[in-house]
Amino acid sequence: MDEHKRIIFNQETEEDQVYSLSLRPSQLNDFIGQDDIVKNLQVSIQAAKQRQEPVEHMLFSGPPGLGKTSLANIVAHEMQARITITSGPAITRAGDLIGILTNLEMGDILFIDEIHRLSKVVEEFLYPAMENFKIDFIVDKGPYAKTINFNLKPFTLIGATTRSGLLASPLRDRFGIFHHLEFYDSSDLSRIVFHSAQKLNVVITKEAALEIACRSRGTPRIANRLLRRVRDYTQVKTKAGEITLETAQEAMKTLGIDGVGLDEIDRRLLNVVAQHYNGGPVGIETLAATLNEEVDTIVDVIEPYLLKIGFLRRTPRGRELSEASFKHIKALSV
Ligand code: ADP
Repeated sequence: MDEHKRIIFNQETEEDQVYSLSLRPSQLNDFIGQDDIVKNLQVSIQAAKQRQEPVEHMLFSGPPGLGKTSLANIVAHEMQARITITSGPAITRAGDLIGILTNLEMGDILFIDEIHRLSKVVEEFLYPAMENFKIDFIVDKGPYAKTINFNLKPFTLIGATTRSGLLASPLRDRFGIFHHLEFYDSSDLSRIVFHSAQKLNVVITKEAALEIACRSRGTPRIANRLLRRVRDYTQVKTKAGEITLETAQEAMKTLGIDGVGLDEIDRRLLNVVAQHYNGGPVGIETLAATLNEEVDTIVDVIEPYLLKIGFLRRTPRGRELSEASFKHIKALSV
């Protein structure tokens, strides 16, 4: 199990978190790709600044590693606001949330990652806080119970979710701004690789940056991680300091990243559906049990890109392989 966890390439590792700080874009102008979202955010931010109000609550959805946290930090930077960062699973009790909310100053940003994982009880406290900047809580029990109303300072909640479908509609409806992040195309990703290479002080050819981009599953986090691994390989294996197409290809081969960017776990999933289930359809629970993975990991992390490139199809009866997927597996096995 642990071994599989290590090779799931788009889950955030501690190393990513460290590099994230240096590689993360800090201004909207540095944020590459997602052009429509950036343009809309520019307008929302400018309008809020002109009115000297906090920007409206925002929800960012999309697969992991596409830039939701980066955008939240950028919004804070552009609004010159403080940001408090937490996540759905970290807020276990309503008291935790009340503590956070009552500490917010006017215009502060509260970022809740994985907001779909907030418990129902906690979520209910969020509704009046978002809508009227108020919280009501009950102290004491029975006949002595009293409701205390507490006024909060106007703030902006930014929620991020890999699955907006799991959000209760009262919560979803309270966000004034909703943006869904799509996978990046290879030209945007190669610009990201280039920028990151500059920040890491490594020289990379255009061809090598594009090669890394094409194998990054549309995901900046993976692009940055592949770049770091390719940089290590180049440093150790070649005398020249520059990352070339050849060294990039060799490095990715040693990492088990194939021509379309799939790694060990992706291929295992495709092979299991092909061999054990005759190409599907196979139910997600059954698939998870066979792969010894969590259903959530498959749904949030592994399958979105396989669905996007048409290797996997979601049908009412389960997951199914496409013709292209069979061809890919076959090509790899010869
Ligand atoms: P998410 O919150 O969606 O999981 P993050 O915001 O943590 O994703 O992004 C992961 C990493 O990818 C960031 O540290 C940043 O280095 C990089 N990144 C994401 N989006 C972009 C982008 N549009 N331009 C440049 N780098 C990006």
